[in-house]
Amino acid sequence: MILLPQPLLKQIVDAAEAAYPEECCGLVVGYAQPPQDLIVTRVEVSPNVTEENIGERFEVSPRLRLDVMRALEGGPERILGHFHSHPDHPAQPSPRDLERAWEPDLVWLIVSVLDGQAIHTTAHVLDGEGRQFREISLRTTDWQPYGVRPAAANGREEEAS
Ligand SMILES: [Zn+2]
Repeated sequence: MILLPQPLLKQIVDAAEAAYPEECCGLVVGYAQPPQDLIVTRVEVSPNVTEENIGERFEVSPRLRLDVMRALEGGPERILGHFHSHPDHPAQPSPRDLERAWEPDLVWLIVSVLDGQAIHTTAHVLDGEGRQFREISLRTTDWQPYGVRPAAANGREEEAS
């Protein structure tokens, strides 16, 4: 299960609606809580840097990803996955998504946007040695992102400022 605090879901939904009819994308940061939950602590909206049809394709900025990875180094959080939107299409991975899914550890969040309004968000992971997606449950929570952050992450931020 992936737990997504409501304000972070709103960030994703806002990005998806703002980008419509183009696809939005970004990174989802957080940490694993054994045995199998993932807790999202932060969402990083990325410019969609695809050089293909931006209404049907997405690519997270490699620069953003590098910056985020660097910022997370040594801390408890990591990049859990990414999100993108499907303008006027269901919140299910497309054949094209499967072709481009080569990182087995990443969660894919997909937002369906219909007529400019985000209507559904789902989460998926790669399964069967990367040959198919499997939907995992996505639960939104009322927790504030900072409330679920481990102390170490807060300490790191203070050092940086
Ligand atoms: Zn897609």
